[in-house]
Parts: sequence; C-alpha cells; structure tokens
Amino acid sequence: MAGFEERTSKLLTELHNAGTYKQLRYINGPMAATVNLEDRGEVICLCSNNYLGLANHPEVLSAAHAGLDKYAAGTASVRFICGTYTCHRGIEETIAEFAGTEAALTYVSCWCANEALIGTIVSRNDVIFSDELNHASIIDGCRLSRPRERMVYAHRDAADLEEKLKANMDADARWVITDGVFSMEGAVANLRELVDVCKRNDARLIVDDSHGVGVLGRTGRGTPEHCDVLGKVDIITGTLGKALGGAAGGYVAGSRDLIDLLVQHSRPSLFSNALPPTVACSARKAIQLLQRDTVLMDRLRNNIERIRTGLTDRGFECQDSPTAIIPIMIGDEAEAIRKSERLLELGVWVVAFGFPVVPKGKARLRVQVSAALTDEHIEKVLDAFGSL
Ligand code: PLP
Repeated sequence: MAGFEERTSKLLTELHNAGTYKQLRYINGPMAATVNLEDRGEVICLCSNNYLGLANHPEVLSAAHAGLDKYAAGTASVRFICGTYTCHRGIEETIAEFAGTEAALTYVSCWCANEALIGTIVSRNDVIFSDELNHASIIDGCRLSRPRERMVYAHRDAADLEEKLKANMDADARWVITDGVFSMEGAVANLRELVDVCKRNDARLIVDDSHGVGVLGRTGRGTPEHCDVLGKVDIITGTLGKALGGAAGGYVAGSRDLIDLLVQHSRPSLFSNALPPTVACSARKAIQLLQRDTVLMDRLRNNIERIRTGLTDRGFECQDSPTAIIPIMIGDEAEAIRKSERLLELGVWVVAFGFPVVPKGKARLRVQVSAALTDEHIEKVLDAFGSL
C-alpha cells in the first residue's frame, strides 16, 4: 500500500499549499443564530442551512425527545425487515401531504434518496437529462444508474433541454432532473418552463428541492409553489437536514406506485438502516409548524430582504434571488478566504468557496440567511461587511 500512502500524503500537501485544505471547526452547542465555536467563542452563523431556525426550536426538540422516549435510539434494522416504526408512517404521510403527492419514503439523507431514486427508476433504454449545475448527489445517482445515455443540459436552459429531448424520443423513458434551488448560486430552476417542456416531450420531471422547501413559496412548499406548478412535478426529493429541522434525513415524494417500487427495489432502503425515530418525529413537527402558519417563512423573507439590500448598499455584488442563499462574488479565491477570515474575527461566520466547488476565478462568500437572526444580529452582520 505504499502507493496509497504516498499519493495521499502528496494530495494533502498540495491541498495545504493551495490553501484549499478543509479545516473542520468544532461547535460546542446547538445550531442557532449564533453558535459557540470552540476556538472563537460566540459568532453569528451565516453558513448553516438552518433557514427557519428549527434546529433549536422548542417544539421540534420536544418532538425529538418524545420520539426517543417512545421508540428509543433506532430501528437496528433496514425498513423491510423490522425497521419500520409508526413514526415513519407519520413523517411520510406528512411529507406527502406537504409536497402534494400521493406518497413519500424517507432515507437517512437526501444524498441516499437521490441515489436510491435514480438508481431504481432508470432502466437500460432510458435517457437522463441533468442540469449542468446539479448537486453532487444527483450526479452520483446518475453515475450509479445504467441508462442508455446520460445527457447534461446547459444550466436552466429549457431550449437546450428540449433539443436534447427531441433527439431521444425513441428512448423508453426520458428523465429530467434538476435542483429546485442551486446551492452555490441561489438560482431558482425555471420549473414552469421545465414542466411544459417535459409535457411536450413526454418526459418525467424530478426536482431536488433541498434548498427550496421551507424557504420558497408562500406556504413554504418550495420551488414548485414559487413557480406556480404545485402538483405538476412528477417526483420531488428533499432533505430534512436544512429548513425542516436541520437534523438529517431525506425523502422521495411521488406516486403511490413509485414509492412502492422504491420500497421493493431501492438499495439504500433494502440494505441500510431506517431514519432514526428521533429525526422522524422532529422533522414531522417541523413540517407541522410550517402547516400551522407562515410566521417563520415571513420572518426569513424579511431577513433575506434586509441582508440583501444592506449588502448591496455597502457595495457588494449580490446575485439577485429570492432564496436564502446570497453568494457575494469576490473572484480571487485567496481574497475570498481573507475576507471570510476577517469576518470571523468580527464575530460573523461566512464561508468562502473556491475551485473546484465553483469555477476558477469565481470565488465567493456564501451568505445563508436564517429566520433565527434578530435585527441586532443583522445590524452586526452589515457593520462587519461594511468594515471589510
Ligand atoms: N441535494 C441538494 C440540492 C443539496 O444541497 C444537498 C446538501 O447539501 C443534498 C441533496 C444532500 O442532502 P443531505 O444532507 O440530506 O444528504
């Protein structure tokens, strides 16, 4: 194994030299508007996906506690053996109701859900059409499946997609896959156009709405609600690890037959443990809070507006988007890293992203907004950016 040790050591040295080595930071407490960083103390957190502040919400926490008390730590089993608890039915019914689909199935992450879905539904004479900026879990899901062909269409380009679909009308099935909200840009998929293109070309549309659910749409039903196509997207996947409680877990929502097929054949549910009951209960409560009223979503939208306007007023180039992701384009990676370090010194935690996560020369600071931020936090954030 000398080969492995040598190449690993070389790679790690290269990462250090390039300044792209990822240093894990330890947090000593819950995820909230501010977090306690072990090496820095209390800082405002602008880099988590805790969009609605539910990771630390009292009702979400008591649902998790109740789940622990009733079902204990976990299933010690995959779903089809003895790993399906009544709380799994509970969360899955709630997800389906919220997504407006017949049924839903949970996985331990949305990464698993995407791999499970694509690996199960795609057959040998099918063709997949994937947006060029899709999330890594979709890319890997496509790689694991065995279609006749995998095609990548230009980012949010319905015309390019349609051209590719038309050239593949002889496939058994055409699967179009897109993120609802693209995580590095905050861009929203043009679902209305995609729904039409898919309809015209007898294709099925899959939307991964991990960053859209709980954020977009008046009632938080995500990108389909925002684009006015609720009920018209064939399959929705999403995470329970961001707006919906922040713990972990993912889901596929779609027709009853699709969910039955996944229960029968999807490898991550056949061969990997079920969602922990604490998470099934806490995530269900998170969705129920959204169903109750729009208070948190309204607060989030207000915070997004204040931060976006405040940053623009201070001369930062923010991409225009209604999402909770505000990328601030810096360009040079070293400069982006310097700025994020300076912000941390000022008590504001924002992460810089460079190549290969984003294209070379397009380094950025990615601000992620949460409903948990108070006016005071926002003022402090804007002051910190203003002094950069
Ligand atoms: N899909 C998208 C679009 C994401 O942004 C992410 C997480 O970053 C995932 C899937 C994976 O979600 P999970 O953490 O539940 O695996």
